[in-house]
Amino acid sequence: MKKPVFAANWKMNLGPQETRGYLKTFLEAFPPAEDRTVIIFPPAISLVVAGFALRDRPDVMLGVQNVHWEEKGAFTGENGAAMAKDAGATVALVGHSERRHTFGEGDEITAKKCAAAFKAGLTVVLCVGEKIEERDRNTTQAVVLRQLKAGISRLTPAQVAQIAIAYEPVWAIGTGRTATPEDATTVHTAIRRALKEVVNAKNVEIPILYGGSVSKENADSLLKAPEVDGLLVGGASLDPAIWASIAHT
Ligand code: PEP
Repeated sequence: MKKPVFAANWKMNLGPQETRGYLKTFLEAFPPAEDRTVIIFPPAISLVVAGFALRDRPDVMLGVQNVHWEEKGAFTGENGAAMAKDAGATVALVGHSERRHTFGEGDEITAKKCAAAFKAGLTVVLCVGEKIEERDRNTTQAVVLRQLKAGISRLTPAQVAQIAIAYEPVWAIGTGRTATPEDATTVHTAIRRALKEVVNAKNVEIPILYGGSVSKENADSLLKAPEVDGLLVGGASLDPAIWASIAHT
């Protein structure tokens, strides 16, 4: 049995001071649990404080929400993957729909960021997902599989075997509209099939997470859906008590 993965994406919320308070409350409500993987993606500016707060809790992993594809240089405002690692991250979120659609990052940039993360010793949660008009045109799987194949195109099969995928339909992110467990299973099954071709192994253990308006109320039914190996949670992870309850699902 794969361990379920619970990932919290705080987006541009919770600076260093708030991170301290949040993690104190969260850790009190969430004792170490070996049967699941928990990852928190704070803003980069809060990583060091988060790492300090989690120093006695190696069961809670830290991730960075974004990295630049170059190691360092004249890229004002950006963070390199090695810097994120130095600040305490072990995972990078790549291809989030807000990076793709608010910041205009296409498949090529996503692929370069995945490669940069691995080069720095981070693993990756690669996000894929279709927009509402793509869903309406029945192109969900074509879009998602194109994003997936492009995202992993610069990785070796051994690196691909270490990533996690998050299927996040764009129309479900931050909208209160969730995919049904059946919708998630259909897309996750297609992703799994495509991954098996790349990694060329029978039992590919790559976790495939669902994300998009996950809440305390719907977490259980989504997690029980076949091929849903975990949850990536935005808005509902901003309250430490709610996040602890979702991570306990
Ligand atoms: C996300 O940011 O990855 C996300 C899924 O957000 P929300 O849970 O708020 O829809």
